[in-house]
Amino acid sequence: MVIVMAKRKKIKKSFKIVFIFIVLLIVIIGSLFTYNTFFKKSKSEATSEVEKLMKEYNIDSKKYSKTLEFVLLNNIYNEKYLTEYQDIEYTDKDNFANIITTFLPKGYSGKEINYIMKLSTKNIDKLSNIDYKDISNYYEFKNFDVNKIARYNAYYEENDYNYQDVVTYVNINLDLPVYTETTEVNDPNSLSVLVNKYNYLPNGYKPSDISYLPGAYGNNVPMREVIIEPFKELQKAAEEEAGINFMPTTAFRDYSFQKTLYNNYVASDGVKEADTYSARPGYSEHQTGLSIDLKNTNISGSTRLNEEDYEWLSNNAYRFGFIIRFPQDKTYITGYQFENWHIRYVGLDAAKIIYENDLTLEEYIDLYVTDY
Ligand SMILES: [Zn+2]
Repeated sequence: MVIVMAKRKKIKKSFKIVFIFIVLLIVIIGSLFTYNTFFKKSKSEATSEVEKLMKEYNIDSKKYSKTLEFVLLNNIYNEKYLTEYQDIEYTDKDNFANIITTFLPKGYSGKEINYIMKLSTKNIDKLSNIDYKDISNYYEFKNFDVNKIARYNAYYEENDYNYQDVVTYVNINLDLPVYTETTEVNDPNSLSVLVNKYNYLPNGYKPSDISYLPGAYGNNVPMREVIIEPFKELQKAAEEEAGINFMPTTAFRDYSFQKTLYNNYVASDGVKEADTYSARPGYSEHQTGLSIDLKNTNISGSTRLNEEDYEWLSNNAYRFGFIIRFPQDKTYITGYQFENWHIRYVGLDAAKIIYENDLTLEEYIDLYVTDY
């Protein structure tokens, strides 16, 4: 009996130990589990302030996007634009927040805002100062100017050009009558100066580096020093490669000379006709000293160049920095009749681009020089 009782005590004791052990195990596992979930939870809260904010604003987790995160964290969230946020591609540009808060309230869609992001700072500023405008036809053109949207639209309606050409032509002012809205050129000494029926030289402008070359009629022809060497190289190449003897007839012409010339043409042909082939004083490219009128002196009589001469000139002048200024198929841009003899120095790089892309100087300036 004593033995039995002792055995029972022993059994009771081992039960107690097992029980305590189990309880301890539960406590350890339990606390580990709790710690784990607590740890995990705190970790997810630290990385996702956004989740919290989304819950706060009752935003479905499926609506998450990098842009939504950005607007939430920057305190510029507005539930009206929840769908638009999904369309806006996130960028880390400085003006991102500003563009979102400026253009969504104007009525631009998220997709339109992606395009606005790609516009120049100048255009973004201009656009931010006006009410909503549908400019979707024009965004992609780098020479697009927000201020001219109405003119682009009108010109597109009136003509058969594509949108890129419309933008370029309106920038050149082809939608305006010639000699009406004219601008004085900023840098008359620049090699890429544009002088035409919309752009005139400062009063009394004369280049300071006038030099002379022998002309076709035994005269001395004034032109800017900077084009003397390139022109001599062109002359030499034409002679060697095609047997052509290009000589200048006129190059630099001052204001008063041009005035006499133009007035004489007007006297005999009338203003309208004279304007198609002669520039008004101040509007002549010859006054820049960068243009040369040529004659192949191998041809007698009044013909300046024959077809083969022009063929060579039009395909090689660019090698020396010159362009054909008034090509045959571009009279609607240059505003002048085809002149196969009139070349203009613009420098090697510009001449190459103009030649290879079949551009006029007007188009080149607008597409490659002007900052929009
Ligand atoms: Zn000329």
